[in-house]
Amino acid sequence: LPPTRLLYLEEPFRLEASARVLEVRQEAEGLCLVLDRTVLYPQGGGQISDRGRVEACGMTLDVVQARLVDGVVEHRGDLTGERPSPGLEVRVRVNEPLRRLHSRLHSAGHLIDVAMRGIGCPFPPTRGYHFPDGPYVEYAGSIVPEKRDSARAALDAELDRLIAAGSEVQVRMAEPAELPALRGLVSAGAPKSGPTRVVTVAGELGCPCGGTHVRNLREPGRGRVLKLRGKGGNTRISYAVG
Ligand SMILES: [Zn+2]
Repeated sequence: LPPTRLLYLEEPFRLEASARVLEVRQEAEGLCLVLDRTVLYPQGGGQISDRGRVEACGMTLDVVQARLVDGVVEHRGDLTGERPSPGLEVRVRVNEPLRRLHSRLHSAGHLIDVAMRGIGCPFPPTRGYHFPDGPYVEYAGSIVPEKRDSARAALDAELDRLIAAGSEVQVRMAEPAELPALRGLVSAGAPKSGPTRVVTVAGELGCPCGGTHVRNLREPGRGRVLKLRGKGGNTRISYAVG
């Protein structure tokens, strides 16, 4: 199958598009559809999959998960109505309230990266889990136990400041040569050739990221650091939004 065109990369705020069915698979848990293009964000990069709908005359697939497998997005869910056939023209639509929540959670993770540097802990980020059920970010570097409470308070204050100041989230394509100068999880998943999508929050240099984001940093609402704890030589920060 040809790679699915990932419309969310080109037009991050587009919620609906027409598409064509390329493959239909009946699986034990439900139906799996491959489309030529999609607005749904497939699970990855620490962000949970979008939910949404694929619709045509006489059929609706309530998509519970989208996954990117070898460049192809598989939409899995529950079918109502007639089983679609390859070639069928459909509308694909994102569940907007959930997309907003996922974008707020993801952007908040980037904001914590900026806040960590702001409070004098410029540790390299090693992991981000921006799912609604207990989001956290992790950094290579530890804060001594007796300073963790004050670091947590400082982080909260810095997040308040950044959110109140507000600023547009910038998304652009960067050439591979630019990447070494950028912070974040650069070496982990960045392709070696071709441009990489780079997301910049709060005027920072930016980091490679394929996820979905808010337009303005005010949108996550008040960010809160729930827990700051050491984990081996790492620091894990659990957080909440809004
Ligand atoms: Zn990101």
